[in-house]
Amino acid sequence: SNIPKIVILGAGYGGILTAQRLQKELNYNEADVTLVNRHDYHYITTHLHMPAAGTDSVENTRVPISKLIDEFKIDLVKSSVQEIRPHEKKVILEDGTLSYDFLVIALGGESETFGIPGMAEYAMTIRSINSVRLIRKHIEYQFALYKNERSPQERINFVVGGAGFSGIEFVAELADRIPALCKEYDVDPNLVNVYNVEAAPTALPGFAPELVEYAMEVLRKKGVTFKIGVAIKECKPDGVVLATGEEIKAATVVWTGGIRGNHMIEAAGFETARGRVKVDEYLRAPGSDHIYVIGDNALIMNPEGRPYPPTAQIAMQQGVCCAHNIVTAIRGQQPKKFEYSNKGTVASLGKGEGIAVVGDKHIKGWRAAQLKKIVDMRYLFIIGGIPLVLKKGKFL
Ligand code: FAD
Ligand code: NAD
Repeated sequence: SNIPKIVILGAGYGGILTAQRLQKELNYNEADVTLVNRHDYHYITTHLHMPAAGTDSVENTRVPISKLIDEFKIDLVKSSVQEIRPHEKKVILEDGTLSYDFLVIALGGESETFGIPGMAEYAMTIRSINSVRLIRKHIEYQFALYKNERSPQERINFVVGGAGFSGIEFVAELADRIPALCKEYDVDPNLVNVYNVEAAPTALPGFAPELVEYAMEVLRKKGVTFKIGVAIKECKPDGVVLATGEEIKAATVVWTGGIRGNHMIEAAGFETARGRVKVDEYLRAPGSDHIYVIGDNALIMNPEGRPYPPTAQIAMQQGVCCAHNIVTAIRGQQPKKFEYSNKGTVASLGKGEGIAVVGDKHIKGWRAAQLKKIVDMRYLFIIGGIPLVLKKGKFL
């Protein structure tokens, strides 16, 4: 048929919003839309630090994709993308091939290890449902082992590498979980060490210093030890080596040192910086007016010429814009320029604690934690309406 084929790769923040908007804007038989995702569920990446530490369940962190899209309008293909072939307008899946007229690359980022020896091999990362289930079980197992071996300290030492938002949010949850683990496994809480190591001169580089100080104080009180201004230079099976030469013995290393674009994008021949494509103002890859790149794989500069940080917030807005631009392209109309509207940043610091910047307002403590819940619920509402808010929302 002559109906244009739209293929969306990845059903994360960017991909789901694109699919939902296409479903809404396209007329009957105006295009064929296919959504490819490795799993039949969408996971709420911004929530993954909780199931990773074990302070919330995996089920609260994922939603079946079939509940989010209309499968009469969108073909859902559960498969893993292996290769993108822009010159052939094809995508190779683990179990087949798809051809497209319009492609949306929304595969999310990958952990960036900067070539640090041992990091990819021995550290765990907070990236998917599977990766956080591993972290949770690994941590529980260390407590169990501790009591069955001759109590080696590295079993109950924990290192989180990187104190960006992911590191800070995870370390807060981990600190909240330790007392329960100690109780369950009969371990003296005073013997447990949680380290957060950050290479930059401050935790949360770029964030308001007043809030950074507040966050560190909250986390110190929960038992976190910070090592700031010192890089991890190697990861081993039994710990990390710091740039100072100091070694921290730990059977658990969680790496939150940064992310990069998906390696398949580079492999496809796109020009990239840290794996990301510098898209044009309509979110298209340079030189390809039918390939859109959004979310963690897109590089967009702010008015000061610095890249916007890759967030769920920007990925969602890009999903909406890119869907609109594909519809206009099909109809031969003018596309819209992408303009980011920053609604603020909220980070949780564990139970009842958080920090936030909204406009020029700084918010801390319980109010920031409440704000985080509102942001989470707003997302559930956007993708799944009231039923999803009632099912997965947290009201206290
Ligand atoms: P993702 O949401 O990562 O989705 C990618 C999708 O592609 C996934 O469904 C994945 O399964 C699928 N996929 C990947 N590879 C393949 C393949 N080969 N084949 C098929 N499918 C594939 N941002 C905020 O704005 N606010 C926050 O509070 C916040 N908190 C965060 C907390 C944590 C712990 C983390 C790790 C990140 C947080 N972020 C937050 C960042 C935010 O999660 C990301 O920027 C956002 O998820 C990017 O969206 P995306 O659509 O690009 O990719
Ligand atoms: P990031 O790049 O923001 O932070 C990584 C940190 O690791 C940096 O502070 C960096 O200096 C440090 N680091 C790098 N190499 C190191 C080394 N060798 N040793 C020690 N420290 C090292 O990555 P992230 O925290 O995963 O965040 C990724 C994106 O997701 C960001 O854009 C962030 O804004 C977003 N995010 C947002 C939220 C939120 O809004 N609540 C939460 C999580 C993530």
